[in-house]
Amino acid sequence: MNSLPPVAVIGAGMAGLACAQLLAEAGCRVDIFEKSRGPSGRMSTRRAQDLQGAWQCDHGAPSFAAQDPEFVQEVRQWEQHGVVAAWRPRAVCLQGTDAVPAEAGLDRWVGVPRMTSPAAFLVQRLGQQGHGVRLHLQATVQHLQHGPARWTVHCAEQGQMGPEYCALVLAVPAPQAAALLEPVSPYAAALAASARMQPCWVAMLRTDAPLPLDWDAAEITDGPLCWVARDSAKPGRQGQQGQQGQQTWVLHASARWSQDHIESDAESVARQLLQAFEALAGSLSDSLPGGLRVTAHRWRYALPAPHLVNRYWWDAPAGLGLCGDWMCGAGVEGAWLSGRALARRALATLTR
Ligand SMILES: Cc1cc2nc3c(=O)[nH]c(=O)nc-3n(C[C@H](O)[C@H](O)[C@H](O)COP(=O)(O)OP(=O)(O)OC[C@H]3O[C@@H](n4cnc5c(N)ncnc54)[C@H](O)[C@@H]3O)c2cc1C
Repeated sequence: MNSLPPVAVIGAGMAGLACAQLLAEAGCRVDIFEKSRGPSGRMSTRRAQDLQGAWQCDHGAPSFAAQDPEFVQEVRQWEQHGVVAAWRPRAVCLQGTDAVPAEAGLDRWVGVPRMTSPAAFLVQRLGQQGHGVRLHLQATVQHLQHGPARWTVHCAEQGQMGPEYCALVLAVPAPQAAALLEPVSPYAAALAASARMQPCWVAMLRTDAPLPLDWDAAEITDGPLCWVARDSAKPGRQGQQGQQGQQTWVLHASARWSQDHIESDAESVARQLLQAFEALAGSLSDSLPGGLRVTAHRWRYALPAPHLVNRYWWDAPAGLGLCGDWMCGAGVEGAWLSGRALARRALATLTR
């Protein structure tokens, strides 16, 4: 155990965790640095309290697909451990106020009881198996240094984090990777800077009574919104809301609308997205005695478009790797596959 050189992984989203898992299983000591208070990255859930009680809403990836056989196998394991479930919403396509049944797409999976659950499970599995993995939360990497065959990581909160690492993996969105890479690898920085990522404004809507809509998810082709769903109707959400009858809805703005409003304040965005929802679904506030509560969240880097196709990038002499959804196609599956592929390639160098 831990016979291989130590590796630093920046980012505890699906790519970073998948990469860390394989590295640790092979015998590397792995330190994961994550700037947030918990792992999971964009597979994110807002949990909060208001006057009506506790509520939660998946405001990052609402669900994901699994097609690659290796990822399907992993997701089946998650299912066996009760941290994901299949989600088959009553889905429609909204054209104006007309709702037509949506074409059946790929089967979707959701984390249970929230989208952060698979990442929490991966972290727990890493801990339980006695792998030499340390997860540093609230550790924002600000600066990287590459000495002779060694990497040093400097965090805003803890300062320099040692010991020094033989390899370093960046598993963060492309623009954030580009900024960190600029001083240490101009080539990798340029590669990351060439990947475009689209923003997404998301509104989380809470109601005290069920909305009178006979569908759970809708694709929208025109206007500010591109997708809305009844978040509280996903599997395993019962008992997660404060009151009986309370519902949570999630409203995604289109990439174009989000870009046009990227610097707007969250309150005005929340109002505008609610208005757009009411234009499609009919006036909601009038029919609800407790009114509506809405909160907006801005993702500057929600989804990559278009993605690079190499799955990962690895510089063997420097021991530097890049992975994430932007290397392997948008989405949770792409992120997981990218992290695994990079780990395999890095191990070929580290075990030599
Ligand atoms: C609104 C929205 C809708 C989406 N819809 C879908 C969907 O329907 N289906 C689907 O499959 N996917 C969807 N996605 C995309 C999916 O969430 C991502 O593709 C996937 O989670 C990316 O994983 P990742 O590990 O590559 O990156 P991330 O999840 O972004 O993980 C990167 C991690 O790095 C951390 N980090 C960044 N910089 C630093 C730093 N300097 N120091 C330390 N830590 C740092 C971040 O905090 C984050 O935790 C959606 C995303 C959003 C936001």
